Amino acid sequence: MAETRVFCVGRNYADHAREMGASGREDPFFFMKPASALLRGPTLAYPRDTADLHHEVELVVALGRGGADLETEEALELVSGYGVGIDLTKRDRQAELKEKGHPWERAKAFDHSAPISAIGPVLGHPSEGFIRLSVNGTVRQNGDLSQMIWKPSEIIAALSRIWTLQPGDLIFTGTPAGVGPLQRGDAVLAEIERVGRLELRVA
Ligand code: MN
Repeated sequence: MAETRVFCVGRNYADHAREMGASGREDPFFFMKPASALLRGPTLAYPRDTADLHHEVELVVALGRGGADLETEEALELVSGYGVGIDLTKRDRQAELKEKGHPWERAKAFDHSAPISAIGPVLGHPSEGFIRLSVNGTVRQNGDLSQMIWKPSEIIAALSRIWTLQPGDLIFTGTPAGVGPLQRGDAVLAEIERVGRLELRVA
């Protein structure tokens, strides 16, 4: 299997796009994280270089096959499973980078910026169901997969027209509204209906 790549979709839920100051009517877009961003353990060390670390709960699509120039109708044939991920973001750094028109890696692609659950098998392709995140028992994000602007099949097809997709690729599909800061000591629970759950402790 090729080395894991992590593709991410930005602003794929209109209510989150609006909370970030966009109109919610622009197309979503792609960015990437390196394999070193993945965190499969239950503990996150609060990262350096930020005082405003934000959570973004996201459906993760795992690819078991590759392909290029796919049609939407055939895209889901590449999927080997789904999981729950958190796209951790240094919001203070991201705001500075946006202001300067600079790339986002410093804010999005740092070590352990992509905690993920185990990837479960495909038990039907999820297109609806709750996606939520709570911190210390308080619900912060509470959306539904049906709110995605680009569906997983459309995301895969669009990615495949830019990159040749490979087995092992992971895709973070965007977050609903309610993103907010994490503090040391926080207990985070991210859940997606019929997909799985991810527990994370911030140390
Ligand atoms: Mn995100």
